[in-house]
Amino acid sequence: MEEPQINSNGTDNGDIDLSHHLSDEARNRVANPLKDIIRVISECPVIDLISMANGDPHHSLYPFRQIMYEVPSVQDAPDPVTSWRNNSGLAQIIRSYKDKECALSIRDAFPYSRAAGLQQCIDVLTDFTKLMFAPPNHHVMLTLGNSDGITKVFRLFGEKGDHFLTDEFSFPSMTNSPLAYGVKWVGVKMDPGGIIPEELERILAKWDEVKSGRRPRVLYIVPVGQNPTGSTLTVDRRKKIYAIAQRWDLIIMEDDPYYFLQYDIPQTNCASTDPDEFIKNFRSTLIPTFLSMDVDGRVLRIDTFSKVLAPGMRLGWITSNKLFHQKLADYTDSSTQPPHAFGQMFVTEMLSEHGWKVEGFCRWLKSLRMDYQSRRDFLLDVFSARRMFVWIEVFFERHPRFVREQYSGGSPVVARTNTEQLLKELFERLMNTQGVVFIPSSTFAIPENPLWVESDGHVPLSDRNRFLRATFAGTEDIIEKGMIRLGNGLREFFQD
Ligand code: PLP
Repeated sequence: MEEPQINSNGTDNGDIDLSHHLSDEARNRVANPLKDIIRVISECPVIDLISMANGDPHHSLYPFRQIMYEVPSVQDAPDPVTSWRNNSGLAQIIRSYKDKECALSIRDAFPYSRAAGLQQCIDVLTDFTKLMFAPPNHHVMLTLGNSDGITKVFRLFGEKGDHFLTDEFSFPSMTNSPLAYGVKWVGVKMDPGGIIPEELERILAKWDEVKSGRRPRVLYIVPVGQNPTGSTLTVDRRKKIYAIAQRWDLIIMEDDPYYFLQYDIPQTNCASTDPDEFIKNFRSTLIPTFLSMDVDGRVLRIDTFSKVLAPGMRLGWITSNKLFHQKLADYTDSSTQPPHAFGQMFVTEMLSEHGWKVEGFCRWLKSLRMDYQSRRDFLLDVFSARRMFVWIEVFFERHPRFVREQYSGGSPVVARTNTEQLLKELFERLMNTQGVVFIPSSTFAIPENPLWVESDGHVPLSDRNRFLRATFAGTEDIIEKGMIRLGNGLREFFQD
């Protein structure tokens, strides 16, 4: 990406000033002075500068000279994921060297480094981000995966007493973290297409700052394959949500680990042998991101290699405006430090000349998405009940012990059925008698507050808590056994 012009308020040209969103913690944080000196030293023009400044072990003491990674050969196989799993495909060796030429040498990768990551790794990811998402004016910083990235971003904006917005069923590993320092969640109603823009607008318009504190300013969202419901936002919804964010001055946190695993999308001519053509075709099959629409700099996109390479990589990246990038870097410099060099070296080599390059990585992603799509289809074939994706809806009102009380005019968020109790019993029954586990939707439900739900006709979330989340990440054998056990367990449960 071209080096953008930076204004005195920390924004790039084109971005608006969003500094008022920063939490006190982010505002008060100053650059780690030691790291700052290292930055100043690294920019010094003296060629034979002798550094006796920092406690960096000399590279001659690193106990590795060469690192080899055996990876699938993605160029020639039409479906590299299947051939890799079957052990029938060719392998390719990618190497990192200490002294021989490579994209990121051991010598360069292992000293202490700056928070945003090693420059070579930032460069390949910046190019990849630019190719895939074409953000107007953004900067890349590495993370230890999305859990790390998201929790850092929460701290950038969250104060005690603030409310953040998210889907009414959301990923608890993330929503749990800011609760500890006093941030509360507001769930926005969803339908099978994900978060409903009109509901988002309604909550913001109805918000009473006297009763509930300042209006929410952060929307945390998983736009593709939402966890847990599996829904994906259409382009139309994205545009509406972005317009709402502009109207109400929201920050959008785009947590998108499943972006490259989009299913049921038209296949274009991805067979092309021309690398640029292949990338262009692959790119055209993917839905536009919030980041690509972000003319203001109000989107922080959070990407990870967890689902497309391996979760234990613990490597991801945040793409954001310059100011937020700098604040996240300051936090990282005083907490985790950048991710380990092994992962950064691998990713840099993989995306560079002697590795897969971007084209090869896209071939891997395309093949992986087909693999997951066929597992998803397999799961749906095995289990043919009504469902929202693999968000399995259970019709508890058909259960012999289902109870519905008459609405007494009390709080609109208090349960009027025993749905949640039956869901809990079903979860336990499946686990203890059938030996199969699904996550009950209550685990993901954001508690409601009467202040921000519709007063008329609202069905309490507790009474809509009637789903089990099934994953199709396992093998077909596991999926088949699991779904047969679910069928048996449901039959038995409904005979109670
Ligand atoms: N966000 C969502 C929506 C997820 O589903 C997951 C993992 O399942 C994560 C974040 C965590 O990703 P990472 O492994 O990169 O920390």
